[in-house]
Amino acid sequence: MKIIRNIGLTIFLICFAVFLSLPFLGKYKLTEKTFTENFSDVNQQKVLKPALKDVFDKEYNSNVAFFNDYNKAFDDANKDFRDKKEWDKVINDNKILDITKSSSIGFVKDNSTLLFIICFLISALGGIMYMVPALFIKPVAGIKNDYIFKRGITSRGIIAFCFAAFLIIFYIFLYQKPAYLSNWVLLMDGLSNTLTGGNSSQWFLYGFLYCLVMSVMSVRMYIKYRNNNYQLLRTTSVLFFQIAFAFMIPNILTNLQLPSMDFKNIWPLDYTFFFDYRLTELTSNGMLGYWMLGWGIFLIIVGVPVMVYFFGKRWYCSWVCGCGGLAETLGDPFRQLSDKSLKAWKFERIIVHSVLVFAVVMTIAVLYTFFTGSPKLLGIDTYSIRQTYSFGIGFMFAGAIGTGFYPVMGSRVWCRFGCPLAAYLGIVQRFKSRFRITTNGAQCISCGNCSTYCEMGIDVRAYAQNGENIIRSSCVGCGICAAVCPRGVLKLENLAEEGRFDAYIRPEEKAF
Ligand code: SF4
Ligand code: SF4
Repeated sequence: MKIIRNIGLTIFLICFAVFLSLPFLGKYKLTEKTFTENFSDVNQQKVLKPALKDVFDKEYNSNVAFFNDYNKAFDDANKDFRDKKEWDKVINDNKILDITKSSSIGFVKDNSTLLFIICFLISALGGIMYMVPALFIKPVAGIKNDYIFKRGITSRGIIAFCFAAFLIIFYIFLYQKPAYLSNWVLLMDGLSNTLTGGNSSQWFLYGFLYCLVMSVMSVRMYIKYRNNNYQLLRTTSVLFFQIAFAFMIPNILTNLQLPSMDFKNIWPLDYTFFFDYRLTELTSNGMLGYWMLGWGIFLIIVGVPVMVYFFGKRWYCSWVCGCGGLAETLGDPFRQLSDKSLKAWKFERIIVHSVLVFAVVMTIAVLYTFFTGSPKLLGIDTYSIRQTYSFGIGFMFAGAIGTGFYPVMGSRVWCRFGCPLAAYLGIVQRFKSRFRITTNGAQCISCGNCSTYCEMGIDVRAYAQNGENIIRSSCVGCGICAAVCPRGVLKLENLAEEGRFDAYIRPEEKAF
């Protein structure tokens, strides 16, 4: 079994090395024809083509060399506009990813299908081969977390910091410099054409990688928590919602030339939902568009409070949400790293509710401009508010920090400190919900497993020892505390509201 494990790891590492090398491979040659096809604006072409004349038909051995010349040509073309402060005429190079992909020649372009198989399919197989033997090595009951504080990757060792750096750098390039990832995006064109009817973007690549990583890490979840039905169902649920709702359906809608929508992504997590271009797209697509708009609003106003009332925020955070799904699969090996201190709890409450307020203010500003046409609200440019939110929260917090910090601060950094929807769900859960974790304090042996593995940094043991119900707004109802408790002290329940704030005595205990 150990051999299979080692072979799997070797296969995965080789494939991963190939994947990492791709942005540095390949050659680039931009032709005037390719450029014309990507820049449809004839007036912009007239300005850009003379500046790009030295770039056309020149062969570059690396994307860095290509970008140097290409960006310099753009700077030259825009110089006059900038000098004259004619900002509306400055040409944006937002086509650079498409142009880089179209300019790619040589090894990567010629072997894209083979590289797709190596980088994604064989690497996934290697990862699964590494995990499956765990089923047979020690077939004992219970959840194994052996050596979790001794392995560098799961206990903030050097390898964990390297992994964190990789994730953060990946997000920076994905959001800010996607053209550097063009060779990765290129590999996705075949699948993208089948699903969406068009070539791949960096977001298609991201969606695919998200699903692939969750799928592989779900195998680990199925093995690790194989004796716990709640965890098996929950893992299946997040995987289903990610693949079907976040990836397949929006891409198929794009193929049908309908507005693309992730039907489970709720504002304010989906902070672009009320942006002008989304509203315009929905309202110009007839009944279906209006239905989609209505569905999104229904979820915010009715769906969230009603579902949280009956089931707590777990229905979303641990069963449906994509961010939660990644945290519960890729992030599971890091859940013990969450900060349990009182200071972190205070910090968490301030930050997460501030982000919620920011999201509300930003959305009001955006809607004000949409309905009135005025670009300013109280003298502030609404576009700049929206840009600040998109950069600070959408990219930095949710992406780079939220996922990049998994190996350092645990799996729910974004959900705990940054997600405005989690803050909204949490307020309802705290004050108007049937959900709670009941604790049978007399049975607690103070082992601390529950607190250790709570990804939201809740000191579950303290509640258990006091026999208190856990009704914390941050609890995502993942159920891991109950799963790892050796004494069956904890139980996730949806009971009548009465007595929620008191210690709950289970019927079976009342008999004694
Ligand atoms: S208290 Fe338990 S159910 Fe709630 S987030 Fe922590 S581990 Fe998950
Ligand atoms: S895991 Fe169970 S027994 Fe251990 S401290 Fe928590 S509630 Fe008590």
